[in-house]
Amino acid sequence: MMLVFGTFVGGAILTKRTRDMYAMHVYKNIVLTLLYGWALFMTQATVAVSGTEKDQPVRLRLHIVFNNVPYKAGLATSWGFACLIDGLEKTVLFDTGGDGDILLSNMQRLGLDVGAVDAVVLSHIHGDHTGGLDTFLARNPDVTVYMPASFPASFQQEVKRMGAAIETVAGPRQLMKSVHSTGEMNHGIREQALIVDTPRGLVVITGCAHPNVADMAEQAKT
Ligand SMILES: [Zn+2]
Repeated sequence: MMLVFGTFVGGAILTKRTRDMYAMHVYKNIVLTLLYGWALFMTQATVAVSGTEKDQPVRLRLHIVFNNVPYKAGLATSWGFACLIDGLEKTVLFDTGGDGDILLSNMQRLGLDVGAVDAVVLSHIHGDHTGGLDTFLARNPDVTVYMPASFPASFQQEVKRMGAAIETVAGPRQLMKSVHSTGEMNHGIREQALIVDTPRGLVVITGCAHPNVADMAEQAKT
């Protein structure tokens, strides 16, 4: 079983933020959800994947903390994506949305502790996925930021200047226990997806999935 989610815009252009774009975005999420045989989870702010690994109870939770789709009353919406993952060896923030104030506000409304985040994984360079990073780091710089190796040196230096450690990701590799990266995929905008190995199968989390979400899912299997 493989569960894939993120904000899929395929190879489409982020500058066209029209109603049509929004409709296509939602449609693709639904198609992919059905494709992988899961219920329509994207209407929920928090998705839990429970299971048992040897005798260790595992409860992986994925909290959608930034999106343009209103998942839960009281959460602010804006273009972009961020997802907090807990229940792993480390607490991971995948992408940061486009606005740090909205990101932190949504985390607070969901009762998620900014200081508990150990690692930030950035999928790709677009501002609606990285724009909240500086505000986040101003609150919690005690993290490692995993970013595609192609990120500009100036971006990497700024993250270091704010006090965070950085790790650049080129090829496929393990980031921490039970968590791998596809490595940055080269066709289209360079982007990495996160792969979480759970007792019920792989969970693949993408940003825009510019390199094509099906190809990213295939890469995750290898
Ligand atoms: Zn993008």
